[in-house]
Amino acid sequence: MDENRTFDVIIVGLGPVGAVVANLLAPFNVSILIIEKNKIIHPTPRAIHFDGEVMRIFQNIGLANLIKKIARPSFQGMHFVDKNDKTLLVRNANKVISDQGWYNNWYFFQPELENILRNGLNRFNNVSLRLGENLIKIKNLKNKSILTTHTTDSTIKKSYLGKWIIGCDGAKSLISKKISKKVTDFGFDEKWLVIDLNIKKNSVRANKLPNYTVQHCDEIRPMTRCCINSSKRRWEIKILPSDDLKEVLHKKYLWSILSPWLTSDDAEIERAQIYTFHSIIKKKWRKNNLVIAGDSAHQSPPFLGQGLCAGIRDASSLAWRLAAIIKGKTDASLLDSYVNERKKHVLEFIKLATRCGELINTGKKSLIKKYFNSSVKENKASFNYPKPQLGKGIWKYGKIPLGQITPQFFFKNKLLDEKAIYKFILLENCKLKKILQYQDKKLLEEFGIVIISANKEINLWLKTINACVALIRPDRYLYGIANDYSSTKKLLHSLRLKLKYK
Ligand SMILES: Cc1cc2nc3c(=O)[nH]c(=O)nc-3n(C[C@H](O)[C@H](O)[C@H](O)COP(=O)(O)OP(=O)(O)OC[C@H]3O[C@@H](n4cnc5c(N)ncnc54)[C@H](O)[C@@H]3O)c2cc1C
Repeated sequence: MDENRTFDVIIVGLGPVGAVVANLLAPFNVSILIIEKNKIIHPTPRAIHFDGEVMRIFQNIGLANLIKKIARPSFQGMHFVDKNDKTLLVRNANKVISDQGWYNNWYFFQPELENILRNGLNRFNNVSLRLGENLIKIKNLKNKSILTTHTTDSTIKKSYLGKWIIGCDGAKSLISKKISKKVTDFGFDEKWLVIDLNIKKNSVRANKLPNYTVQHCDEIRPMTRCCINSSKRRWEIKILPSDDLKEVLHKKYLWSILSPWLTSDDAEIERAQIYTFHSIIKKKWRKNNLVIAGDSAHQSPPFLGQGLCAGIRDASSLAWRLAAIIKGKTDASLLDSYVNERKKHVLEFIKLATRCGELINTGKKSLIKKYFNSSVKENKASFNYPKPQLGKGIWKYGKIPLGQITPQFFFKNKLLDEKAIYKFILLENCKLKKILQYQDKKLLEEFGIVIISANKEINLWLKTINACVALIRPDRYLYGIANDYSSTKKLLHSLRLKLKYK
């Protein structure tokens, strides 16, 4: 054994999801080892978009202000157009700060984002990194596992002991395979060509292109065009059965397909690569001390720009639970609620992305009515990102907004989460703060609940949900509501039961 110590957590894979899990977990002062096979950050991006809820998670790891500097907010949504460039459907967006406290759409260059997430780990001396080590074997002992790695530039084998193993090791996850090989497949399985371009300064043609995503719904050549920022654009093009896979990567072919918009006078091709898009959810995400998150647990066609967002939501749902388990406050079964909650949530995004894929692939206008509940004739075809309710887990079951992401309010000119970074928040507007602090101090401390008395804006929201108390989880989903002291007490006790606090 190269390391004599046993780590509380070993995270396999330092992609964006692994990095967010580590940044969320580290402040709980648990010992973390991260194993990553690549020595450097992957230079070729996949994700280019994240949403306002994800920016809120970045806020809760203290990195949003840095990430804001490398990301571009976008206000015009996503336009699905027909063969004649006529808009059929719009994924809505606007210039207003969203209910998450941030603009709702951000475009970014993935290596820059990952660099900030990795540098964020330097803040913690309880996080150890092993870069350039490929996990090759997992051996389970009672309550812990031995992970064996191979260094990628030699054949040296190393072994590490961990109590909890989190597989953030992407689509080909070894940890996921160790848990189970069973998969639910929603049927989308297509090869797409991704071309990333560096735009030359002063390109008049590039400047005229829209700075929003255009989905070309056309069965002859389905395609996506994206604007990352003023100097980077992306084309995603479906590979057709008649295409020659080698041919499509040749510069001549690439420029021929780009020619309606740009020529080599306007841009340089940074890279062209073929990806296979899937729509799958793994059946099992946890077995004993092994648990998975991100692409190792689910994969979505990227038409909504939500695959990574879902992985980062997994991270936020997982980290506070794992911390509570490691600290001995609850038992391991709490992780099953993570799996149930997240599976149902991510399924809604995968289904919607798959439907978008069907529309892009066929251009059939009838699909808009079928899937998006709107009529093209009325020129009103548009949709928003869903805000799904979680699957059964740690919340008081009932109608939305219970089990749904909560808004983030401004409080004394600051975003509310800043008052209780990645902690439970109890919002109240019925003068309960003092009595709760006096009568229920122990309970509040046990959960680390921060009580905030409502301002005008919070008051309005509490009224719309018919509550005078709202209990919000560290991942900002609504646990439950109450209306007076006695129902608040019951709410807190139900949380204690749900968490199986000892
Ligand atoms: C073309 C394309 C465009 C996309 N656009 C978007 C978008 O705009 N928005 C969005 O939200 N999502 C998007 N996605 C999806 C998004 O890229 C993925 O969901 C996201 O990258 C998954 O992150 P992850 O950290 O789970 O996995 P990964 O990014 O795959 O990271 C896994 C890490 O684990 C490491 N690893 C794997 N195996 C081992 C091992 N055995 N030992 C050690 N390390 C290992 C890998 O080296 C890697 O660093 C897109 C996907 C594609 C293909």
